[in-house]
Amino acid sequence: MTEERSVDLSGGLEDVPVLCEFSVFLQYSTDNVQGLGCSVDPSEVTLPGCSCISHSCHPETCSCLQTSGKAYDDTGRLLNLDGPESGYSSPVFECNALCTCSDTCTNRVVGRGLRLRLEVCRTKSKGWGVRTSEEIPRGTFVCEYAGEVISFTEATRRQLSQRAEENNYIIAVREHAGTGSVTETFVDPARAGNVGRFINHSCTPNLYMLPVRVHSAIPRLALFAGRCIHAQEELTFDYSGRYGAQKPVEALSGDGLKRKRCHCGSVNCARFLPLDLSILS
Ligand SMILES: [Zn+2]
Ligand SMILES: [Zn+2]
Ligand SMILES: [Zn+2]
Ligand SMILES: [Zn+2]
Repeated sequence: MTEERSVDLSGGLEDVPVLCEFSVFLQYSTDNVQGLGCSVDPSEVTLPGCSCISHSCHPETCSCLQTSGKAYDDTGRLLNLDGPESGYSSPVFECNALCTCSDTCTNRVVGRGLRLRLEVCRTKSKGWGVRTSEEIPRGTFVCEYAGEVISFTEATRRQLSQRAEENNYIIAVREHAGTGSVTETFVDPARAGNVGRFINHSCTPNLYMLPVRVHSAIPRLALFAGRCIHAQEELTFDYSGRYGAQKPVEALSGDGLKRKRCHCGSVNCARFLPLDLSILS
């Protein structure tokens, strides 16, 4: 694809253009937006900043890093890609607009936005898809899955009213706090979204999803390269949030639940896209 006959789907909102051969109707938003039932505006700065004066923040002194430690190495790649033994990743708090450290602080990764050249393209059997124009090293932040942040009730309503041919996917992310409490975030990219909404599901994905907080208590659903991804490869993630050796997606029967067929083509394909049953119960 040459750049001359491609349009920038982000309309200049991203620092690097999101190329596509066709223009696609989408209210492009680089970040999450407030949707029905969400009482907080995700663009509002609600988390405090650190008062570090060093070039880059250190876990010993930085209030942002003291909560959960360093998430990234000095080149900005995710450190704990294999996942913790507990099965739960520790929360990530990045430096934000209120922090006094420099813009090049290594605790600023997702907050810096899209850095890679990605293309939205037509796939053989899955409709739209996203491929990378450049090689992506393992652990690199690729893009966010941005959309409307909605409540559980609204997510249920939208899920139930969706037609089988619609290619929209509401992602539900559950975070378990040490106290036993669970935080749930529902992101729907149907009305507003970024390049992330075009990324297909795969039962053997190359991206790993991790909730990351920058300036808001509402997490951003950040996608990182789970392995080295070659130029022109299609990007995929598991819509159920699983990655690697974690337990496979349950194969559920399709009775009345409008389950969508999976066309990922991998050997361990679960045949259907994951369905968040907790939304429907
Ligand atoms: Zn910092
Ligand atoms: Zn700091
Ligand atoms: Zn900070
Ligand atoms: Zn599959």
